[in-house]
Amino acid sequence: MSRYEAVIGLEVHAQLRTKSKIFCSCSTAFGMEPNENVCAVCSGMPGVLPVLNEKVVEYAAKMGLAVGCRVNAASVFARKNYFYPDLPKGYQISQFETPICEHGHLAVTVDGSEKVVGITRIHMEEDAGKNIHSATENASFVDLNRTGVPLIEIVSEPDMRSAEEAVAYLKALRSILVYLGICDGNMEEGSFRCDANVSLRPFGQAELGTRAELKNMNSFRHVQKAIEYEIERQADLLDDGQAVIQETRLYNVDKGVTASMRGKEEAHDYRYFPDPDLVPLVVTDAQLAAWAAELPELPVARRDRFVSQYGLTPKDADVLTAERDVADYFEETARLCNEPKKAANWIMSELLRELNQAALTAAACPLPPAHLARLVTLVESGKISGKIGKQIFPEIFAQGLDPETYVDQKGLSQISDSLALESAVDRVLADNPDEVAAYKAGKTKLMGFFVGQIMKATKGQANPALVNELLGKKLA
Ligand code: ADP
Ligand code: MG
Ligand code: ZN
Repeated sequence: MSRYEAVIGLEVHAQLRTKSKIFCSCSTAFGMEPNENVCAVCSGMPGVLPVLNEKVVEYAAKMGLAVGCRVNAASVFARKNYFYPDLPKGYQISQFETPICEHGHLAVTVDGSEKVVGITRIHMEEDAGKNIHSATENASFVDLNRTGVPLIEIVSEPDMRSAEEAVAYLKALRSILVYLGICDGNMEEGSFRCDANVSLRPFGQAELGTRAELKNMNSFRHVQKAIEYEIERQADLLDDGQAVIQETRLYNVDKGVTASMRGKEEAHDYRYFPDPDLVPLVVTDAQLAAWAAELPELPVARRDRFVSQYGLTPKDADVLTAERDVADYFEETARLCNEPKKAANWIMSELLRELNQAALTAAACPLPPAHLARLVTLVESGKISGKIGKQIFPEIFAQGLDPETYVDQKGLSQISDSLALESAVDRVLADNPDEVAAYKAGKTKLMGFFVGQIMKATKGQANPALVNELLGKKLA
């Protein structure tokens, strides 16, 4: 295994969040009746002409700028020809020789060391439709709602050397797309999808080995597992003295293996040529400068700012900035309670866990930042204990409750009244005469025992500082 170096290059397709399709005014809305979002252009009727959606160009250029690409002043749309029922024109409009963006790079951190992955190109293209094979009728159907939905394809250099690096690169790419607001990043629904090219070569060899192209992975976990499996499979072949053949392989989720889909011989010859219906696309310097000025703060810059502005550790800042919505949630909570580190801890330990369990994104969080901020304040001011705060968290989260009202209604305020606490302390000491005697004889470790008993008697509502103070007095 370790005799070979793995080489991985990724092709990522990101569906752009435009209102209308790339070459017509049909809606891109998801979940419509089949063939509801279809017109003469996207259904491939003869005699119609495509009209480019300017938003698509803007989004593709912004992604290029975000990953340090050169944005070409002129780029060309090309026809990629193949026959398939979900492609009514018989060709897909894409870009081939001159894409809109080239020569970018993206730095990722894996196991504490930085790795720069080259980005070969980013080009615009239209999505195909969907074939639906009926289980009840002996028939297949074609849904063209997705036909003409805009995509960008982001092609990396073969710069990654492990499944971890590939996943880190994908996560960084997805994060940037979502920060830019140009893609929803949903892997399950296919708005962010990737093909992984994997090959092996002996360490020290410059020439690349023969690659397999892996498809059908719709989560980061699948990408990780498919690449790991493929590396093992190719290593076994090479160890056996066999050759790896160039082919497309599908990841089988249930079995955790990759299996051959088609070989190089069956690979398509796409007969690319410039689309005569579309003039070369020109992006002026002024337009590009205007788009550059609109770029939001990107994940890496935001992480660095979280460290300097809020005093968070780089690791915590990483967690909080990976998702734009989580970062926004954190900043709003921190602003409202003025306790950024505490807010960060509540979000990382409690909120993310609850969101995860409920399979919700931060954007759909039932608990608004104002309520989490109030919870932080309740704990920091001593009105409730941290323990009670954590106990009530799942419920106030799920129902989006105001923790202050909740605490008042349930009578959960911390007992900070020394008279009320004193009777609880007296009772615990009276109930445990042997421990009191032992403590007085020098077994001071028993302090924890007394505190525990008092907490139990008060259902966790006693103010720990006050308990310690009272015990200190009574046991002196
Ligand atoms: P195609 O479009 O036919 O899939 P490309 O040459 O455009 O081929 O390469 C697609 C992807 O495959 C790129 O991300 C590239 O970095 C990667 N790649 C090319 N050769 C290899 C190789 N030998 N091993 C691993 N990845 C490779
Ligand atoms: Mg490919
Ligand atoms: Zn249309």
